[in-house]
Amino acid sequence: MYGKIKENLQQQLQGIKDDGLYKNERVITTPQGIEIETNGQQVLNFCANNYLGLSNHPRLVQAAKDAMDTHGFGVSSVRFICGTQDIHKELEKRISEYFGTEDTILYIAAFDANGGVFEPILTEDDAIISDALNHASIIDGVRLCKAQRYRYKNADMADLEEQLKLAQAQRFRIIVTDGVFSMDGNVAPMDKIAELAEKYDALVMVDECHSAGVVGNTGRGVTEQFNIRGKIDIITGTLGKAFGGGCGGFTTGRKEIIELLRQRSRPYLFSNSMPAAIVGAGIETFKMLESSNELHDKLMDNTQYFVKAMQEAGFDIKPTQSAIVAVMLYDAKLSQTMAAELLNEGIYVIGFYFPVVPKEQARIRVQVSAAHSKEHLDKCIEAFTKVGKKLGVI
Ligand SMILES: *Cc1c(COP(=O)(O)O)cnc(C)c1O
Repeated sequence: MYGKIKENLQQQLQGIKDDGLYKNERVITTPQGIEIETNGQQVLNFCANNYLGLSNHPRLVQAAKDAMDTHGFGVSSVRFICGTQDIHKELEKRISEYFGTEDTILYIAAFDANGGVFEPILTEDDAIISDALNHASIIDGVRLCKAQRYRYKNADMADLEEQLKLAQAQRFRIIVTDGVFSMDGNVAPMDKIAELAEKYDALVMVDECHSAGVVGNTGRGVTEQFNIRGKIDIITGTLGKAFGGGCGGFTTGRKEIIELLRQRSRPYLFSNSMPAAIVGAGIETFKMLESSNELHDKLMDNTQYFVKAMQEAGFDIKPTQSAIVAVMLYDAKLSQTMAAELLNEGIYVIGFYFPVVPKEQARIRVQVSAAHSKEHLDKCIEAFTKVGKKLGVI
């Protein structure tokens, strides 16, 4: 039976390769960090979501081990049967405190948080108004819900207003956006979104996966940045980026929404409870972030330093409000050549081109971390300058 579909799959795979879109996974033989090893080569990593440098932080590693000692390895249950331990409740409480929200629900991943957030609270009588550049998991979540769908151009408030007018036809409305868009590093204009939501009677949801820990004076995300705490109804986020980089997602916000998600959200109800090691490290992460702003300050300093030096070297950098720095090259092939040459220089970055970014908008995306030292940043800038001159970019 496999015969016919096998051929079809092989053709599809060949098609992906022919289009130059086949993803080869680079194998890393060290823990995640700034200095990593791949293919026997030592490189400096500038492409992880390790914004606060916590991926291999000794305090989190120890907290994960300690939590396994006290709470075991797995829970062998979903939350509502016998999979809720005291540490799950503690982590949920700490996340609520961090964001200044009423309650929090944990998921195994933010992908699940976004996948399970719409369907329980909205019906075909309601409307979801979604930014065109929202993450795949939001798009999938919207697909799983029967609400009417509206889409507005990326961060375009005039278009959002148009869509909100159209959506007055429905009973309830929700505006959904990423906090930081991962290809440009721009922050969604949450103050204006909140205003429009008020004017057109809509809820607001923001996915803070790339913004939490990064954006705002102390890294507490877009509600801090725009001083709109209490005006955002739903925040989703991940423990897989700034907050330690292990895995795990959450939805935090209005208590009735969270309460209903515990009753009805399918990825929560029908998927295993988060293991103790992840929960323990998560609690430690928020303890660290509550007690000091040092990592966030370092991240901001590093990003400013890097952007300024790259601009002075002559590179075309997209204005960023996060730790994502898009070095614009415009040409797809150049982005791949440049990334390969940089790797030879010991700098690990990724070149992105269509369809991940719009046509003629190819770029190298650099992600800065609090764990980068000035020497790391200087090495990266030097390598960019050397390769950039060689390839005629600067
Ligand atoms: C990374 C990311 C996710 C998925 O997070 P996981 O916890 O890894 O599933 C969801 N939304 C956005 C905007 C992201 O950047």
